[in-house]
Amino acid sequence: MSDLKGKVAVVTGASKGIGAGIAKSFAAAGASVVVNYASSKEGADRVVKEITASGGKAIAVQGDVAKAADVKRLFAETRKNFGKLDVLVNNAGIYNFAPLESVSESEFHRQFNTNVLGPILTTQEALNHFGNSGGSVINISSVASVSSMPTTVVYSATKSALDSITRVLSNELAAKKIRVNTIAPGGVETEGTHTAGVIGSDLEKQMIAGTPLGRLGQPNDIAQVAVFLASEDSGWLTGERITAAGGYR
Ligand code: NAP
Repeated sequence: MSDLKGKVAVVTGASKGIGAGIAKSFAAAGASVVVNYASSKEGADRVVKEITASGGKAIAVQGDVAKAADVKRLFAETRKNFGKLDVLVNNAGIYNFAPLESVSESEFHRQFNTNVLGPILTTQEALNHFGNSGGSVINISSVASVSSMPTTVVYSATKSALDSITRVLSNELAAKKIRVNTIAPGGVETEGTHTAGVIGSDLEKQMIAGTPLGRLGQPNDIAQVAVFLASEDSGWLTGERITAAGGYR
């Protein structure tokens, strides 16, 4: 496994699901981790407890990524507790699938605020905390950003926007030695996909049928790719979009 010893990472939306998996894998690889969450304090505390029980370093920090004041506080707490910043994972994201006829203005803004404005605000603030040796930003997109699955019009648009953000910022921030890459997961079994009713549905069956490796992903499948992108092993990668989906296209 790649080495993250001595690095400090902020993982947004790490109280559950893919974010929790990334936080735990980062800590296992030696990083000090900030476990961000919006409302699930209990979930975030559980992730921190698991990390510290295994000898790792982590703190939980509440903050809505779509609110600039919360984002400022998130990075200030990171600096206060761990002294620096090396890695930012923009994982916090929400999804809700609905046919076009049911798309509302408020749902559009809800998803765009978290999935698009959020990563812009966090990356903007992270610039004030990355040191002279730069940093690694990892955006969690989705296979939905390039697929054309019905009922995902708003969600897919948010993830296409995030792919675009990765490409632009990889170019814009390269002079500061900040690498920006995307991971695009396929279907992953998480608290979110359980709550959204994906697990156990026909959609899950369709996704598995379209996955050569024959199953949904687990958070750890995505976390291992994130550890690589956070580490010096991926030092020559920026502006890339890595699909992590068991071969699903
Ligand atoms: P999840 O289980 O629902 O967890 C979402 C996490 O994001 C939670 O920790 C939640 O915190 C946090 N969050 C939500 N809104 C937030 C906000 N405004 N500010 C800060 N944190 C916020 O989701 P998941 O399935 O692991 O998905 C994680 C990411 O992977 C998302 O970006 C999603 O689009 C992407 N993805 C997921 C799949 C999949 O099949 N699961 C596939 C492709 C891509 P609280 O619990 O405190 O609300």
